Amino acid sequence: MSARIIDGKEFAARLRARVAATTAELKSAHGITPGLAVVLVGEDPASAVYVKSKGKAAHEDGLRAYDIRHPATLSQEALLAQIRDLNADASVHGILVQMPLPSQIDPQAIIAAIDPLKDVDGFHPLNAGRLMSGEYGVSHGLVACTPLGCMMLLKDVLGDLTGKDAVVIGRSNIVGKPIAQLLLQESCTVTIAHSRTRDLAALCARADILVAAVGRAEMVRGSWIKPGATIIDVGINRIEVDGKNKLVGDVAYAEAAEIAGAITPVPGGVGPMTIACLLRNTVVAAALQAGLNPPAI
Ligand code: NDP
Repeated sequence: MSARIIDGKEFAARLRARVAATTAELKSAHGITPGLAVVLVGEDPASAVYVKSKGKAAHEDGLRAYDIRHPATLSQEALLAQIRDLNADASVHGILVQMPLPSQIDPQAIIAAIDPLKDVDGFHPLNAGRLMSGEYGVSHGLVACTPLGCMMLLKDVLGDLTGKDAVVIGRSNIVGKPIAQLLLQESCTVTIAHSRTRDLAALCARADILVAAVGRAEMVRGSWIKPGATIIDVGINRIEVDGKNKLVGDVAYAEAAEIAGAITPVPGGVGPMTIACLLRNTVVAAALQAGLNPPAI
């Protein structure tokens, strides 16, 4: 069998077209230009690339982007003061603080200081709780961007997910746990695996839906996969092949594509969905802050 390739790049382009159309509508009907502030502390090159691409994408879709940079020596108190300013700034509807932060700053303290209505990353404990309680989900609220993007792709490929066996490998707050919650909301039977899970291969072999969010290059082998399963590969790993840098996922793609029914490639699968969902969340946040019905994007 040769798997259908889930084209995240193409899906993200369609999502961003809807974001741009909704942004234009918010401007013309309500005089609101959704504003996204991206805060970078330090000079980590990978973080700088992410921040730049987020700002560029926001501009392209008609949002206002604020690119805020601080030296790596910034104190926690100074960053908290910056967050308070952004919370109070009515032209800023979404606040994203790029992680990781330097060691003198506690990321949880920063996330908790962001106004939950401006928390476009969906990491604030209140928004995580709303996801857990079912108040927020794939079609409403501020849900973490990568998990939201994964679910949009899954629903596009499979339609109704009811009753499917889903295995999520990884239990981080930013990817594994929120994806598991979203799958549960779609009435999947969800198992969350992690580094202490016994016989991961046998567990994966039962999965109709397998989400890998581990950070270990090509760990999931083709032989672990249930024939016809849908594979969402969140992992982004840099490896060296013949002296050249290459990006690979957590799934051994070539092997898996022989067995699976559908699979996301790396790059070009989940990655483009993350930025598209960040813009989607900013537009939703702008509508919520204006007391409007959140747009269905
Ligand atoms: P974390 O390091 O926070 O979490 C990794 C998880 O994988 C942990 O729960 C860990 O278990 C588990 N794990 C580690 N080794 C194993 C193993 N041998 N078997 C089973 N489980 C294991 O990573 P993130 O969740 O932040 O990210 C995961 C991957 O997704 C990374 O490659 C990251 O780059 C990528 N990513 C991609 C994004 C995108 O836009 N496409 C966005 C965000 C992340 P334990 O808890 O027991 O330690």
